[in-house]
Amino acid sequence: MYMDRSHPRFESLRRREKLAEGFRNGLVVPEGLIAQGRGEAFDYLLGERTIDAAEYAERAAAAALFLAKRATISVNGNVAALAASEVVALSRTSEASVEVNLFHWSESRARAIREALEAEGAKEVLAENPDRRLEGVAHDRGRCHSRGIFGADVVLIPLEDGDRASALVEMGKTVISIDLNPLSRTSRAAIISIVDELTRAIPNITKFVEELSGDSESARRTMDSYDNSETLSRVFSAILERLKSLSQR
Ligand code: ATP
Repeated sequence: MYMDRSHPRFESLRRREKLAEGFRNGLVVPEGLIAQGRGEAFDYLLGERTIDAAEYAERAAAAALFLAKRATISVNGNVAALAASEVVALSRTSEASVEVNLFHWSESRARAIREALEAEGAKEVLAENPDRRLEGVAHDRGRCHSRGIFGADVVLIPLEDGDRASALVEMGKTVISIDLNPLSRTSRAAIISIVDELTRAIPNITKFVEELSGDSESARRTMDSYDNSETLSRVFSAILERLKSLSQR
């Protein structure tokens, strides 16, 4: 589809097109298209940009990934369709493993997502044949890999559902969410809640990991001073301020 770069919503249209293509290629399920629409509604409220509160959380996420003993990035169909190359870049920079994790599990979709990541240069993607289960998460949705999410101390979960996010927190992991909806159960359960659009958030985190340039003292300070309730409170204030200014005549 031809898209004019000068269109004011070019980036958003491009994301929609990538998801539609992902749907046609078997990466994305219909529920994923609905989730994108839900996210976009919140992005309008944020002004379709990375707000300061999100950047604050992204810096903490970079520090957590940098300090992790074993970090894993969880990838579902929407994430693969929208940001496969960005995920691969972050996994390289942060030395995190990559695991395919699906709400609607099928081996063939797990394989398709693994192949999409490999096409962008991923060396190893944990996908088919998961060998563990998350406690308290029913059926296929709890399936995961011991070398990935199950054994990780830090887990990045973009566009995740609330049950699984809570189960990971219950397991004592440092859970980093990326979710445009600050009211979702995922954003409320996470240890670090990034309220930002996926394709803006991932490159920002990669840049902040690079900026740490091996300085574990600085990463430790960032983590120690981080307060997630401050992040969420600042997100709600930013939305309120924006609506207040729009409501003034
Ligand atoms: P929860 O279970 O956490 O309360 P939910 O039922 O909405 O929320 P999902 O449908 O699995 O759970 O959530 C996907 C989330 O991802 C939604 O909250 C949506 O706002 C968010 N989202 C969708 N697309 C994007 C995107 N491109 N960038 C960031 N967030 C997104």
